Amino acid sequence: MAILVMKFGGTSVADLARIENAAKKVQAEVERGYRVIVIVSAMSGETNKLVGYVEGTSKLYDAREYDAVVAAGENVTAGLLALRLQEMEIPARSWQGWQVPINTTSAHSSARFISIPRANIDAKFAEGFKVAVVAGFQGVSAEGRITTLGRGGSDTTAVAFAAAFGAVRCDIYTDVDGVYTTDPRITKKARKLDRIAFEEMLELASLGAKVLQTRSVELAMRYKVRLRVLSSFEDTDENSGTLVCDEDEIMESKVVSGVAYSRDEAKMTLLKVEDRPGIAAAIFGPLAEAGINVDMIVQNISEFTSPGDAQAYTDMTFSLPTNQLDRARRAMEEAQDSGRIAYGDLVADIDVAKVSVVGIGMRSQVGVAAQMFAALARENVNIKVITTSEIKISVLIDRKYMELAVQALHDTFELDKA
Ligand code: ASP
Ligand code: MG
Repeated sequence: MAILVMKFGGTSVADLARIENAAKKVQAEVERGYRVIVIVSAMSGETNKLVGYVEGTSKLYDAREYDAVVAAGENVTAGLLALRLQEMEIPARSWQGWQVPINTTSAHSSARFISIPRANIDAKFAEGFKVAVVAGFQGVSAEGRITTLGRGGSDTTAVAFAAAFGAVRCDIYTDVDGVYTTDPRITKKARKLDRIAFEEMLELASLGAKVLQTRSVELAMRYKVRLRVLSSFEDTDENSGTLVCDEDEIMESKVVSGVAYSRDEAKMTLLKVEDRPGIAAAIFGPLAEAGINVDMIVQNISEFTSPGDAQAYTDMTFSLPTNQLDRARRAMEEAQDSGRIAYGDLVADIDVAKVSVVGIGMRSQVGVAAQMFAALARENVNIKVITTSEIKISVLIDRKYMELAVQALHDTFELDKA
């Protein structure tokens, strides 16, 4: 019996009418002959409300009780959806994480999966149940306590079930109808993609196209779970949405598949750093210890180095999230004070944004970077930092040019055309 996993996010189960709508989508798949495992989120806003209750009760709260409270949102929607399906005469029941059981580590509020044994749910399918409605985002630790996976975790629950049950596909129902070539709010020419490779989706997800939790895409890639993103607010059929899949399943791929951006970037430069072995480690060690998410890194010869000088200097530039700037500055000043590093000056620029082009086609195509830089040059956009990987080229630019840059790159790579 083929198994399909369907996941409904918070807006897709926001009230009883939305839950009924979700139930109809499940019914359609049952009628196609699937055994369905449905993963549900809490009703939208519910998890935030529960987090607020915890924080309003206890400042230094017990993480185990935090999880016990915030996991409750998903329990409600799982039960309600099972009830709605029963009303439609579809044999269904709800499952909380511990009942499956969804075994996780004991890292409360950021637990990781250990195992999802199939036996209990399979036994119910064998008894004639057609649908298992599972509360997303939660599990149970070896100590028998309720755990949660971290915000947005039900996407990951869905992928984990698809992997554990060998599902034909994992359909993620949400409030957008798929993955786009770029943010449609920035250019109306943004086009919905029929297919996108796991690697590309990972780059787009971590670059701020927040359709799927990044961890869920990593897991899908590892277990080759075909993921489909589609809207629960529209009529959908087997071809709706965007399929996130192995690149082998993508016939004609464009060189560039999408343009991503991240608005909240900052740039920091340490000027006149002594150029010697170990200096990068001495800078980035303290940043890592301070929990700074360093992204792009560029090391240059410093203008303070004069020819023939015994002592050479280097300038080290890196990007980081804007809200970590103060912490990074403190880490660098402390490293300077304690003698771990020595630099002439520290300059920070908070008005920057990152724009990236992503595509697996880049692996085999030359000239993509040149094309990208030429497009930015035509718009008079100055590039501050560049980094590249096999399937991505990113630039840091002044934030006020971000929209312009995204539009220009979308045009240059003709992403509006299929
Ligand atoms: N309800 C949880 C959250 O809001 C998990 C999820 O919906 O993915 O983060
Ligand atoms: Mg979500």
